[in-house]
Amino acid sequence: MSGQTKPRQTFLPFSPPLLGEEEIIEMIETLRSDWITTGPRTKKFEGEFARLVGAQAALGLSSGTGALHTALAAMGIGQGDVVITTPMTFCSGVHVIEQVGATPLLVDIQRDTLNIDPFKIEENLRKTRDKKVKAILPVHFAGHPCDMDLIMDLAKRYQLFVLEDAAHAIPAKFNGRMIGAIGDLTAFSFYATKNMTTGEGGMLTGSRDLVEKARVYSLHGIDRDAWDRYSETGSWYYEVIASGFKYNMMDLQAAIGIHQMRKLPQFMDRRRQIVKIYHQAFSQLGEIEIPTEKTGVDHAWHLYILRLNLERLSLSRDQFIQELRGRNIGSSVHYVPIHLHPYYRNNYGFKPEDFPVVYEEYQRMISLPLYPKMTDEDAYDVVSAVCDIVKGFRR
Ligand SMILES: *Cc1c(COP(=O)(O)O)cnc(C)c1O
Repeated sequence: MSGQTKPRQTFLPFSPPLLGEEEIIEMIETLRSDWITTGPRTKKFEGEFARLVGAQAALGLSSGTGALHTALAAMGIGQGDVVITTPMTFCSGVHVIEQVGATPLLVDIQRDTLNIDPFKIEENLRKTRDKKVKAILPVHFAGHPCDMDLIMDLAKRYQLFVLEDAAHAIPAKFNGRMIGAIGDLTAFSFYATKNMTTGEGGMLTGSRDLVEKARVYSLHGIDRDAWDRYSETGSWYYEVIASGFKYNMMDLQAAIGIHQMRKLPQFMDRRRQIVKIYHQAFSQLGEIEIPTEKTGVDHAWHLYILRLNLERLSLSRDQFIQELRGRNIGSSVHYVPIHLHPYYRNNYGFKPEDFPVVYEEYQRMISLPLYPKMTDEDAYDVVSAVCDIVKGFRR
């Protein structure tokens, strides 16, 4: 099993996609079909995706970032408004709040799941009653769903929108409910490293009403109803009812997505098998901490994040990553917290300790390779490398 100590001969990349002949054939058919941008394949993908997560409606977009941006606009969030989110996220989830003219309010995370802390959200809501908090933007970090009962309850009591960032959480469940069918709108990403990919791409799910509003914003603010109204007299006519964006999904993207979605159950089986191998090997080591999966939750296992017990090791996280690389194992860190980036540090005057849990956990996190293309042997190579480093740098 993990007894092999010889390092890998070839580099194991951190997160390549797994694409097959089905995607390739559909892509070629799309290219030959004379309809390459938003059209029948996007419509089909939207319908199937909505059914998968149990949402009323879905909207295909050019990226997860575009999905988040469009969602905020569709919710009517803008100048003077405040949106609550987590500092443990990808930068674009906070950029879009500024890009609609609103202000992000960062709230620290829970240590176990690394998700935004609902109790700290409430503390902030009580403190900032005068501020115009309009929405909560939780991130289902690494694929572990946030406590959506607590978050939806807060939203109801304080009359807030909930926009979930589910870039990591396809497919995931909280208390039996699919992520994508809980909050007002949920944004998914199909970036190349995500659980399913379209190269670049995204999806918004939610109520028919909000999704149709988002559809208008996603394509120049053009009202399709106007098109329908006038189509008999001339299909050249359209009306612009908002200053919208250009975030529509192409059929070329949907061609890939349709097949990736069908393979999702197999992808998840494989992810869980690798997680099992990691859990079994690493739970015996006191120098590292394995990720948690709370009861009542179906984890999407987008990321497997190890946390180093630094006081028991004589190397830093950065050195650990170097040691992994030296053993031909790719790894990464998710994420450099928002408040440590120069842009946010300078504009909001953040100090590292402003979000103590995020700051502390950031310094000891490593994301290990976890993807359906990995073989058991690949996973055991990762196990050997990690165990070898731990043995060599025990304090
Ligand atoms: C990937 C990701 C995004 C952005 O998605 P894109 O499709 O790359 O625009 C946003 N938030 C989180 C948490 C992500 O992981």
